[in-house]
Amino acid sequence: MRSLDYDFIIVGSGAGGSTLGWELAKKGMSVLLIERGHDIKKVGQFRDILKFYDLYKYTKTPKKSQEGVILYRTFMPGGTTVVSTGNGVTGLENKMSEIGINIEEEMEETIRELKVLPSSEKIHSNGSEAIYNAARDLGYMMEPMPKFIDQNKCVKCGMCVFGCKNNAKWTAKNYLDKADKLGVQIEYNSKVERVIIKDNIAIGVEGIDNDGVFKYFASNIILAAGGLGTPVIIKNSNIYDNEVGENLFVDIFVNVYGIANGINQTNEPPMEFVDSEFHDSDGFIISSFINRDNKIRFIEAGLKGYRFPNKKLIGMMIKIVDESSGKVFSNGIVSKPVKASDWEKLNKGIEISKEILIKAGADENSILVSNPQGAHPGGTAAIGKFVDNKLHSKINNLYVCDGSVFPESPGLPPIITIVALAKRLAKSF
Ligand SMILES: Cc1cc2nc3c(=O)[nH]c(=O)nc-3n(C[C@H](O)[C@H](O)[C@H](O)COP(=O)(O)OP(=O)(O)OC[C@H]3O[C@@H](n4cnc5c(N)ncnc54)[C@H](O)[C@@H]3O)c2cc1C
Repeated sequence: MRSLDYDFIIVGSGAGGSTLGWELAKKGMSVLLIERGHDIKKVGQFRDILKFYDLYKYTKTPKKSQEGVILYRTFMPGGTTVVSTGNGVTGLENKMSEIGINIEEEMEETIRELKVLPSSEKIHSNGSEAIYNAARDLGYMMEPMPKFIDQNKCVKCGMCVFGCKNNAKWTAKNYLDKADKLGVQIEYNSKVERVIIKDNIAIGVEGIDNDGVFKYFASNIILAAGGLGTPVIIKNSNIYDNEVGENLFVDIFVNVYGIANGINQTNEPPMEFVDSEFHDSDGFIISSFINRDNKIRFIEAGLKGYRFPNKKLIGMMIKIVDESSGKVFSNGIVSKPVKASDWEKLNKGIEISKEILIKAGADENSILVSNPQGAHPGGTAAIGKFVDNKLHSKINNLYVCDGSVFPESPGLPPIITIVALAKRLAKSF
C-alpha cells in the first residue's frame, strides 16, 4: 500500500478528466490523475485500435449492450476524444441553464482553444459534397460541420476513429500533456475500483495497477471515467444510491450506406456535413458519414457492409436524442434497449437519408442500414440525481465530471459541453 496526499485525485483522462487536470494545475493545485489505459504512442490504423477500444477479449469486437446495441469507448490517455471525428458543437445549453448551470462563457473558451471551424472544401470528398448538394436540392438544411481539426494539417485519410496519426485533430491528450508539463502526476495502467469513504467524506481511491492494489489519498476526488466507467466505480464504493448507473443514454445512431458510381467519401474526416433542423422538433440529426474500414462495416452491418466497394461508397448517419432507458451494472455490464420511440426517430432520419443518398447518386437497391450503435454514453450519475449543479455528490468532497452527469441525451457530439463543464468546475475551487 502506498499513501500520498494531493489536493485532487482525478480518475480518467478523457474530455472531463484532462481538462480538469490542466485547469487545476494552472491554479497551482497538486493533482494526481489516474488513467486505466496505457500510454499509447501509435494510432491511426485498424490494428492500433485493438489496443485501446473496449473490446470483447476473444472476438476483438466492440462491447454490446445486453440488447445488442454496439457501444464504443476507449481506455487510453485522452480517453474517447482520441477517436472522435472532430465535431465541435455545443449542446444542452438550455437544459443546463434550466438547472442553474450557465456554461456559455466556458463553451466559448473551449471553441476558441480547440480552434473550431466549419469544415471546408480543403477536406471534403466528392461524395459528401454530392450529399450536401442533393440535400440542398431537396430543401434540407445541410451545413458544413464545425470541426476541431486543423484543415491544413489533415491528410484526409478518413481514419479519425482510429486516432489521428498526423496530429491534425484536437484531443484531450493535448490538455493532458499541458497538465503533465505543469507537474500533474499521471499514473497510467491504473484502474480505480472504488472511492475510499470515511464518515461520508471521500478521502481517496483504491484500485489495481501492475504492482497490485494501490491506494491514494487526496482532499478532493473527481470521477471522470466516462458514462460507462464512473457509475461502476460509484456502485463499488458502498454508496447507497439506487439511481447510479440508471438513466443511461448513448445518443443511438445508425448508418445508411449506398453504392454510387463515380463518387465516394473515403478520403475525408467523417461527418463533414450536418443537418440539425430536426433536432428540436423530431429528436435527430443527419450527417454525411461512412466507416471506411470494411472490418468496422462488418461489425456494424454484416457481410454486405464488409463487401461494399470503398471507391463507390456513400453514406449518412442518423443520430438521435435517445431515451435514458439503459443501465450500467456494478460489474460493467450494460443494458441498453432501443425503445419504440427511439425507432420512430431513427426511422424518420433513415427515410430522409435514403432520399438524399439516392438523389446524390446511390443505387436504390444497394441501400443498407447498419445495426444501432452508441458512442456518447451518459446520464448515469446525473445532475439532479447523484450530483448537484456544482457537480458535487452526496458524499463530501466527491465530484463527478464527465458524460455521466448529463441530465439527458443531447443527441449531439458532447465533447465541447463536457470540456466546458470541467472548466466551470475547476473555476469553483
Ligand atoms: C468513434 C467515436 C467518435 C466520436 N466523435 C465525436 C466527435 O466528433 N465530437 C464529440 O463531441 N464527441 C465525439 N465522440 C464522443 C466523445 O468522444 C465522448 O463522448 C467523450 O470523450 C466522453 O468524455 P468523458 O470524459 O465522459 O469520457 P472519456 O473521454 O471516455 O474518458 C474516460 C477516461 O476514463 C478512463 N477510465 C475509465 N474507467 C477507469 C477506471 N476505472 N480507472 C481509471 N481510469 C478509467 C478511460 O480510460 C478514459 O481515458 C465520439 C466517440 C466515439 C467512440
